[in-house]
Amino acid sequence: MCGIVAYLGHREACPIILKGLHRLEYRGYDSAGVALLNGELNVFKKKGKVSDLEAYLKDKNVHANVGMGHTRWATHGEPNDVNAHPHYSTSERIAIIHNGIIENYAALKKHLEHQGHVFHSDTDTEVFVNLIEEIQKQNSCSLEEAVRLALHEVIGAYAIVVLSKDAPNQLIAARKGSPMVIGIGEGEFFVASDATPIIEYTNEVVYVNDYEIAVIRDGKLDIRSKEDVVQTPYIQKLELELDSIEKGGYEHFMLKEIFEQPRSILDSMRGRLELEAGHLNMGGIRAYEQKFVNAQRIIIVACGTSWHAGLVAEYLIEDLARIPVEVEYASEFRYRNPVITERDIVIAISQSGETADTLAAIELAKSKGATIFGVCNVVGSSIARATDAGAYTHAGPEIGVASTKAFTAQVTVLTLLAMIMGQKRGTITDTKLRELMVELNNIPAKVEKALELDLEIQAIAEIFKDVPNFLYLGRGYNFPVALEGALKLKEISYIHAEGYPAAEMKHGPIALIDENMPVVVIATKDSSYEKVVSNIQEVKARKGRIIAVVTEGDTVIPAMAEFVVEVPPTSEVLVPLVSVIPLQLLSYHIAVLRGCNVDQPRNLAKSVTVE
Ligand code: GLU
Repeated sequence: MCGIVAYLGHREACPIILKGLHRLEYRGYDSAGVALLNGELNVFKKKGKVSDLEAYLKDKNVHANVGMGHTRWATHGEPNDVNAHPHYSTSERIAIIHNGIIENYAALKKHLEHQGHVFHSDTDTEVFVNLIEEIQKQNSCSLEEAVRLALHEVIGAYAIVVLSKDAPNQLIAARKGSPMVIGIGEGEFFVASDATPIIEYTNEVVYVNDYEIAVIRDGKLDIRSKEDVVQTPYIQKLELELDSIEKGGYEHFMLKEIFEQPRSILDSMRGRLELEAGHLNMGGIRAYEQKFVNAQRIIIVACGTSWHAGLVAEYLIEDLARIPVEVEYASEFRYRNPVITERDIVIAISQSGETADTLAAIELAKSKGATIFGVCNVVGSSIARATDAGAYTHAGPEIGVASTKAFTAQVTVLTLLAMIMGQKRGTITDTKLRELMVELNNIPAKVEKALELDLEIQAIAEIFKDVPNFLYLGRGYNFPVALEGALKLKEISYIHAEGYPAAEMKHGPIALIDENMPVVVIATKDSSYEKVVSNIQEVKARKGRIIAVVTEGDTVIPAMAEFVVEVPPTSEVLVPLVSVIPLQLLSYHIAVLRGCNVDQPRNLAKSVTVE
C-alpha cells in the first residue's frame, strides 16, 4: 500500500511524478503530495485523490528537475493534509516519502522530542525523517550515512525516498519489506513502487533488495547494503506494455479486467498446457519435483481473494494428487506456532507478490525447513524472490482494487499444479488427465460465453442494488466461489454479504432469511447438485429471493429460483473458473448503480504491504 515515485534528471519532474502517482493510485488514495527540489525544497500535499493534488498545484511554481511524490493509504493518523506525505524534518531541510510502517515509532518519537524535534503529524513517517536529521546533526555526516544509520534503528517495513535541500542533485532511496524499482534512463533516474510510472521512459530497471540503499547522484546509481558494502545492481529489461495499464475504452479497470479473463486464463496456461503433445509443464517445479511427489502435506498461505484461490486448490490437490492440504490465512499462520516440517510444502499465493503477511508466513515456514512455492502475478516481486520455486500467473497488471482476473489466473495455475502432481504421483489416470487437459483448454471459450451474461446480470443488479444484505451459498468447488462472490460485493458496493457452504446455512444463517434477503446460490451440475437443490428449497420455504447460477440447460432450478443465470457446463474441478464470472459482474454492476468508486473502493488499497 502507498505509492511512491521519484525523479532525477533533465526533464520537469512534477508532471512525471503526477502521472506516476495516477498509475500508483491503486495502492492508496487517502491523500497525495509532492516534494520538489529546485534550490528550495518545497512540499505540496492534499487530502484526497491525485486529481485533488493536481488542482491544488495549478497556480504553484512546480518547476524542478528533482522531486518525489506519494499517494497514501493511511496506517498511522487519519487521512488529512497534515498526515499526507512528503514529511519535512523539523528544520524543513530534509523531506521523506514512505511506504510501510515504523513499528517502534512511538519510542523514537519520545526520544526525538527530548532532543527538540517538533512533530506536526500523527504518522510514523515523520519520526523517520527526524531521526535522519538528528543522526546527521550528531555525527556531522553525509545524508547518505545518516539514512544508513537510521535504518539500523527503525523496526518495521519501509520503502523510502529522501531529499535534502543541502544536496540539490541527489536522491536517496532504501527499502525493507516494501517494493521499490529504479528505472535507468539516459541521464535520468526514476524510483517507484512498481514499474508502471517508468515504462514510457525506459525499460531498464533494477529491483532494489531489502536492506539496500540507493544513492542517485552525478548521473550515477550507487547501491549499498545497510553495512555499507557496494552492491552490483542487476539491470533487468522490463516486459510491460503501456496498453496493459490503461483502461482501453472500458469505464473501469475492474470491468476491463473481468473481460480480459479469457485471455489472462490462456496466458496463465501458455507453455504449460500442451494439448497436442499431451504434455503438462511447469518450469517452476522441475527442480523440486521429488519434493512435491513425496510431500507429506501442503500448506497454502494467502490473504483475501488469494486465500479463496487457495481453498479451490485444497479441493483440487486433495482430489487429484491425494496430498493433504491445509489453507491458512497468512496473518494467523505467522503468529501462531504452526507445526511445519521439512517434508511440508508451503504454497504462498499473492497477486502483488508483496503481501506483508504472506511474506512473513514464508519466512516462518522457511525457518522450519519447508519448501516454499510461490504463485504471484507481479514479476520480480518480493514473494517471487523469497520462494524456492514458483509459477507466475501471467495475468498482466491488475489495477482494479477488487481482484478478478488474478483470481482466475491463480486458480488456473493451481489446477495445472494439481494435475501435474497427480500425474507424477500416479493418483490420476491417463484418461482422466487427458479429459481435464482438453477441458482446461476449453475454459477461455467458456469464460467468454459466461461474459455474455453481462446485460442479464445488469438487470438483476438494478433490482437488488439497494438491499442491505446478501447471502452467497455454494458447495464443494463452488463454496470458495461463494466466499469470493460475497467478498467482491462487500469490497466495492459496501453491501454486507456472507458466503457460506450451502449445507451450513441451517446452522445459523438461515435465521437471516426472509422475503427481503437475496440469496445467490451457485448450483452448477456437479456431485453435490441434488443437495444444493434441497438447500434452494430450504431458502424458498423461508421466502428468500433466490438468484441461481446454474449449468446451461438446467430445467429444475429455474422452476424454483426467482432469477437464473446459465453458465456453460464444464468438469466439476474446473467449475470455479466459470461460475465466478457472473458473481464478479453482479458485484460490479451493483457497485456502479450505487454510485460507488469501483476501482478505488473506500478504505481499501491493493498490494497490502502492511501487516
Ligand atoms: N505509515 C505511513 C502512513 O501512515 C505509510 C503508510 C503505508 O505505506 O501504507 O502515512
